[in-house]
Amino acid sequence: MNPSDHIIDSPIKSSPYNVPEIPIEIVSEEEMALIEAAFTATRSSLPSSFISSSASSSSSQSRLSLFSSVSSISFHSKRRLSGCSEGNTVRDIEDSGATQKKSIVPQSLLDRFRRRRGLAITDLTASEWCEKQMEFTLLYGKPRRTKAMKAGSDRHTKLEEEVIKKIKVQVKAVEDAWGLKLMNFIVGSNQLLFEGLTRELPLVGLVDGVWMVGAIDELRMPLTEEIRTPSLVDTKTRVKATLPSEPQQRNGRLQLMCYKYLWDNIVADSFPADRFFDFFGLNPHHVLSEDIIEHATSSGFPVKTLEDLVTCFRNACCLLPPAHDQLLLRYELQGDHSLLGEDQFAYESDWLKSQIQCCLEFWMGNREARYVPAEERWKCRICKFASVCPTNTSTNSSSS
Ligand code: SF4
Repeated sequence: MNPSDHIIDSPIKSSPYNVPEIPIEIVSEEEMALIEAAFTATRSSLPSSFISSSASSSSSQSRLSLFSSVSSISFHSKRRLSGCSEGNTVRDIEDSGATQKKSIVPQSLLDRFRRRRGLAITDLTASEWCEKQMEFTLLYGKPRRTKAMKAGSDRHTKLEEEVIKKIKVQVKAVEDAWGLKLMNFIVGSNQLLFEGLTRELPLVGLVDGVWMVGAIDELRMPLTEEIRTPSLVDTKTRVKATLPSEPQQRNGRLQLMCYKYLWDNIVADSFPADRFFDFFGLNPHHVLSEDIIEHATSSGFPVKTLEDLVTCFRNACCLLPPAHDQLLLRYELQGDHSLLGEDQFAYESDWLKSQIQCCLEFWMGNREARYVPAEERWKCRICKFASVCPTNTSTNSSSS
């Protein structure tokens, strides 16, 4: 047996669900780099996560997660994708002359950085936070994760593990990676239907002519009510026992509204399979890896090719209703996970669409990146690119 393919156990402790023992296969780092290259970073602060499951028709079904913990690989892969050399730092940016005000981007950011990957919902929210910071991140790489970011990431992993059993599987092609993602959606949506709860559900859909991807933190669905409507929930962790500022809350609301928008789009059966294969450069007739075929079969949907899995995905979508108009943001203290507060708010379709349109103007190259507005300049004090950003090197810089 190849050392990178050995099988290990990973029993779940303290899980509220009865999760069977499942063998785990280790994915090699090269393969995970392939996955990362194919997938959009739906959760920038988390390792990539691909989810499978068993017993799709059972009310006691559990989910498995096929994942990697090679965050350094994913980081470098993204760097390579963006055309940047490895090891860039803020100092490199200073050396590169990136402080010139005029945009140095020769084509749209969408084409350059998200071709065959799709735009992540976190790309939208990061752009809403500061477009210039988003542009810096794309061009020069993500700043190192802070302790707080890692703590937030760890908390999400813990929450996910309460309802999902993770395993690692071998993928041999980009089609396999996408197959896993679709399989995770099918299994997660079954878990939602039968257990009333799922977490880290991956999404992909064509929205306003742009392929978007993301992962919903949590979906809840009443098991007994006559009208069963899924509710979207997102948990944010806080270093201090305070609620976030209005711009942070606005950003969180935007994220959840985007997920509802994407979810509603997918369950309306508007998933254009041919365009999906075309955009992501996938061969629909690709025979999926043995692992995927095996897990899909044991989960109740036997498949052979990626096209088969897309058909199952579309069928699963048809069983799902649109999400509830009320959305919930939870704020937890990182130290003890105590609840600091909840923000329940209504979905605002017009506001969301205007936000997405505005964001796409930037991503599609219809205008240059904006800096944070004057009243939100405090963001610059915690920005890793502050020392090289024109807004701080010129008193006359735009704040539009
Ligand atoms: S310094 Fe301010 S305006 Fe410049 S990228 Fe950072 S947050 Fe945006």
